[in-house]
Amino acid sequence: MSEKDYAVTLLSDFIKINTTNPPGNEEEAIVFLDEILTKEGLETQIFVPVKKRANILSRIKGRQIGKPIILLSHVDVVPAKIDEWDIHPFSGEIRDGFIYGRGAIDMKSQTISQLLAFIDLYKKGIVPERDIIFLATCDEEVGGKNGVEYMLNEVKDLQEASFVLSEGGALIEEDGLIHAQIAVAEKKVSQFMIKAYGQGGHGSIPTKNSANEKVIKASYAILSYKWPIKVTGVVNSYLNGILKDKVIEGVRFNTLKEGLKNKKIKEALEANPLFNALLRNTVTPTILKSGEKINVIPSEATVYFDARLLPREDKESFFSKIKKLCGEDVEIIRIDNSSADPKPSPYNTEYFTGIKNIIRRAKGDIPVLPCLLTGASDLRYFRNLNIPAYGFFPAVFSKDEIMRMHGKNERISIENYLNAIEITKEIVRFLASCKDKI
Ligand SMILES: [Zn+2]
Repeated sequence: MSEKDYAVTLLSDFIKINTTNPPGNEEEAIVFLDEILTKEGLETQIFVPVKKRANILSRIKGRQIGKPIILLSHVDVVPAKIDEWDIHPFSGEIRDGFIYGRGAIDMKSQTISQLLAFIDLYKKGIVPERDIIFLATCDEEVGGKNGVEYMLNEVKDLQEASFVLSEGGALIEEDGLIHAQIAVAEKKVSQFMIKAYGQGGHGSIPTKNSANEKVIKASYAILSYKWPIKVTGVVNSYLNGILKDKVIEGVRFNTLKEGLKNKKIKEALEANPLFNALLRNTVTPTILKSGEKINVIPSEATVYFDARLLPREDKESFFSKIKKLCGEDVEIIRIDNSSADPKPSPYNTEYFTGIKNIIRRAKGDIPVLPCLLTGASDLRYFRNLNIPAYGFFPAVFSKDEIMRMHGKNERISIENYLNAIEITKEIVRFLASCKDKI
């Protein structure tokens, strides 16, 4: 079998292992990776935090001790509604030049790319400056407790890594142009719910201040509040990079700073859901729980909010603002009470420059920009420890392809995937040469 066919078969077979989380059941996928690594002569360690869940670590010893570089990926996937798919999500079917299935983008293709790049380094006999660690984990899609969090406690030198490469950014194709997004920061998850109690009764005799009225008033206050725009360094670089010279509402975009002073440009940026989320805290109601019968006034009502804060925002001041907005009638209950404070990773580093040079060699003189992830990834565990961590997979995706990521008919083209493997190999060879100067 040719090297390319082997890579395609590996991904297709890897997708066939159903690692939908919950429940995860990632052990089989970890054993799959273990067999490949072992066959190539690499040593591995499997960690089983709970039954049927597992993580795998393999290491290529470096010249120097400590401060390893980690190639990180997760092997679990989000659920797929089989009825909505045209091709079974766990068939790994290859059709019209695409490999289909849950995980084709997020992120089994990247796991296999990192695996093949790691094996390539080993087979070439390259001794890296620092240990290079291949780490594939479970449980990312549900928070990483059994995955990265567990591994950081089990393998102490992970906590002093010099650099981590995982998911989050990619090569994005828009209107025929490609730019590279390297995720260097992510927003902070600050989910909470508001709860109110009131006099229940029959719908025909309304009482004052029912539980529903209380949560509706408080929710309205939260939703009416416009969180101030705060331009972070990362978002400034990113938006300047992709919007430079674009004509927005008849005005040529020069810099973000200047653009935000122009009412029309500011409104256009705020109207774009992604740009809006990059520029301010967002607070979104997602679950409403209350009455069950049309003629019964419930005595209790709850609204859940998914809030995402800009990287340097302080959670305590955020919640005191929420409290002020809500008033005294509702109780605010924080859902994620962790003190996690992932710092944005610096991007004036040899890692960023090195990866940028590799991308430009492969794709031409395209913009290579740091970006802020609106969602959360396992990299937050490392950023929490002040370890520079980037999310980047060198495959090209259009918006339509990215929408499939947690949706239906997720897929990756074979050509795109094979190219990504080659670029990943170069990135890993480059990382092997890094001496950790930052
Ligand atoms: Zn993912």
